[in-house]
Parts: sequence; C-alpha cells; structure tokens
Amino acid sequence: MGAGPAGLSAARAAAAAGASTLVLEKQNEVGYPVHTSGGSWVSDMRALDVPEHLYHPVDDVTLLGPASQVSWRLPDTVCMIDVRGLYQHLAEKAVAAGAQLRVRHSVTDVLRDGTRIAGVTANDHRGTRIELRAAVTVDASGFSRRIGLKAGIGEPFRRYGFGAEYELVAPNFPDRTIYVVVGSEVAPDGYAWLASVAPGRVRVGVGTIHSDGNVDPRLYLDRLSEIPQLRDLLAASSPVELHTGLIPAEAPLERMSADGLLIVGDAAGQASTLIGEGIRFCMYSGDMAGSVAADAVKAGNVNAAELGRYDKMWRRRFGRSIEWAYRINRYMASESGGQGGAGWDDYVSTMGEIGIERAVPLIRGDFTASNLAAFAATKPWLFGRRGVKALWQLKR
Ligand SMILES: Cc1cc2nc3c(=O)[nH]c(=O)nc-3n(C[C@H](O)[C@H](O)[C@H](O)COP(=O)(O)OP(=O)(O)OC[C@H]3O[C@@H](n4cnc5c(N)ncnc54)[C@H](O)[C@@H]3O)c2cc1C
Repeated sequence: MGAGPAGLSAARAAAAAGASTLVLEKQNEVGYPVHTSGGSWVSDMRALDVPEHLYHPVDDVTLLGPASQVSWRLPDTVCMIDVRGLYQHLAEKAVAAGAQLRVRHSVTDVLRDGTRIAGVTANDHRGTRIELRAAVTVDASGFSRRIGLKAGIGEPFRRYGFGAEYELVAPNFPDRTIYVVVGSEVAPDGYAWLASVAPGRVRVGVGTIHSDGNVDPRLYLDRLSEIPQLRDLLAASSPVELHTGLIPAEAPLERMSADGLLIVGDAAGQASTLIGEGIRFCMYSGDMAGSVAADAVKAGNVNAAELGRYDKMWRRRFGRSIEWAYRINRYMASESGGQGGAGWDDYVSTMGEIGIERAVPLIRGDFTASNLAAFAATKPWLFGRRGVKALWQLKR
C-alpha cells in the first residue's frame, strides 16, 4: 500500500512474479503532490531502467559555504528526476506487469488472522469503509508508517528532516547546474539547493536533516535569492510550484517483516539520512520486497521466517550504507559535528581537498572498505579511532 517509489516497485516485482497485486494510494493521483526534490544518480537511473526523458543530468556542481566555494564538473553523474513523471512511469510498469491500483483509497487499519497480518481496512474513493484480505501486506506508506504502526512494529517518527522547495521559472539560471549551500544563516541543521531540472527551470529548496532542532525551512526559503552569489542567477524568476515534505531521520527498523507483513521505503527507515536521499534506495528495496512476497505466496508460506529473507537481502545490500549514514547524521547534529564542530567553511574546503572522485562514493553512501580506505588516506584525522568510536556510539 502506498504508491510512492517503494510501493510501486514492490507492486511491479510482485505482479511480474505472478502474484495478484493491489496498490492502495490515498491521494487522487500517483506522484502528486510532490514532496521530494528528486535528486539522484544517472548510473542508478540506468540500472533501474528509467527512461532518459524522466531525468535531467546535471554536470556542474558548486558547494557554497558562508565564505568558501568549491566547484566540480561531473558529466553523467548527478541528475534531477521528473518526480511525477517517474512515479507515473512506475505505475504504468506495475499495471503492465499485472498489478491493479486504486487511488483515493486511504488505509486505516490492519486485519489480523491470529498473529498474521491478513490485509487492511480502508476508506475508498466514496468514503466507504472496505476490508481487503491479502496473503502478504506491504507497508509502503512512507513517513506515516501507517500499517507498521497498526501492526505494532516501530514507533511514530520523532526525528525527521523537513524540506520546502520552489520550482521556479528562472531564465537566468544556468542549465545542468546545481548549487548546494551550507551555513547556519542559510539552512540550519541541513542545507539548501538550487538544481536545474530543464533549461530555464530550477528547483530551489531548504531542508533540515540533522534534525534534533526545530527549524522551519520555509522561513529560510525566500532568503536564498538574497545570497550575493545567487542573486543574478535567480533574477527575473518566479515560483510555479511549491513542494514540502518530511523524511525520517532515524535508524532503519531492526525488523522489516512479520507474519504476513513487509515494510519498505521510508516506512522502514530505508532512505539515507546522510543527505536525505531515498528514491533509488526505495526502488531497489521495493523490488526486493515484491519478489520475496511473491515467492512466499507461491510457496504457500508467508510466516515471519519466510518473509525474513527480505530483511537479510536488504541488510546485505544496504544495511551498512544506511546505518552509517544515520550515524554520520547523528554526529552532524551533535555538539562536536555540524555547526557546533569544524564550521561549514572547513567542511567545504575539506570537500575541495578530498577531490570529487573520493567524495562522490561517500555522498552516495557507498561505504565500502576500499572507498573508506581511499578517503582515510586523504583525511586520516576524520577516521581516527576517536571519530569512529564516537560515530559507533551514536548508532541509535
Ligand atoms: C523535502 C524532501 C526532499 C527530498 N529530496 C530527495 C532527493 O533529492 N532525492 C532522493 O532520492 N530522495 C529525496 N527525498 C526522500 C524521498 O522523497 C523518499 O525517501 C521517498 O519518496 C520515499 O519513498 P516511499 O515510496 O517510501 O514513500 P513516499 O514517496 O512517501 O510514498 C508513500 C505513499 O503512500 C501514500 N500513503 C500514505 N499513507 C497512506 C494511507 N494511509 N493509505 C494509502 N496510501 C497512503 C502516500 O500518499 C504516498 O503516495 C526527499 C524527501 C523530502 C521530504
């Protein structure tokens, strides 16, 4: 349930494996309202078979600190997704594989059969309460974690990032360009971004992500055009869309499956809290959940042990990345990290010194031993024993 990237990918995979699949979405249409910026990576879009017209590559990247600036040229690396277009495309793929979608169907509770989650109750598009039984129920409800909570798994998110973004018509903003702006005056507890999504069109946003504070990014959004380096780029621009959204900033669930139930995407805490990035992770994880669900149904065994294969697959592929991202997030939110620590200009100049080849894998959350070793060789102090210990202790 939930027609975001996680739910739609799960539905496509389950239907493609032969399972009868139904997606319930509480909104009137798939992919709207937009509550994400849609930044991602060209290599993942290709790996996920996303058609090229649904993402816009960005080649020039500038990191701006209060008194510092670093720029890189990164052809074929970063991209901005057409969010509604991608989610509609995922819906088309799910339907083509045999899934059914129901819009304006809002899930309210779970049905139980002993200890097994046996489906959901929902209010349909006419406001009528309906009951839907299923061998496997997948919670892909994003931040609301609706089914998981009703099933007694996880808590409501207390720690989260909050983002507010305009899409602007901006005739003076250079195409295929992104600015990431840090500093307590601009974006306390997070960062701001300006990213071209088409010639003459840019998404400009502010988000919190190191979120132990109580910052409202909407208060900072209108000030971005006053930053001297950005003023000319945003001259004669005007908003044509406003997007807002919440992203969990907590550790992933320790258990993402139970009898008859799988939890996927933001609902399971599967987005990276390093920079607040979830779309590709949710698509890959949705694929895993859908195929495990279909296999379990085929085998006639949907108990927690069988569905637990999904937990194992997910941890093997993403566990390290998402857990470390969360530790770094907590560190940045602490007194010794973030704005209480080295200061934003130090972070910007460190990124300049590390070089983009080493920085990209870390920003992506590819914390493999070889990437960490390459990074540590350049900045040994960041990976000193005390630093690693501090990150480990901040785990949950
Ligand atoms: C401000 C902001 C900026 C972001 N920027 C990026 C970015 O640049 N790049 C990136 O990769 N990620 C980004 N993210 C994160 C990314 O958007 C999420 O990780 C991703 O959307 C999660 O996908 P999902 O399918 O789990 O949940 P969602 O996309 O939230 O989808 C959940 C769906 O479930 C539906 N739903 C909820 N409750 C019910 C119910 N009771 N009944 C039926 N349906 C229900 C919702 O309407 C929704 O359609 C950002 C997030 C925010 C908030």
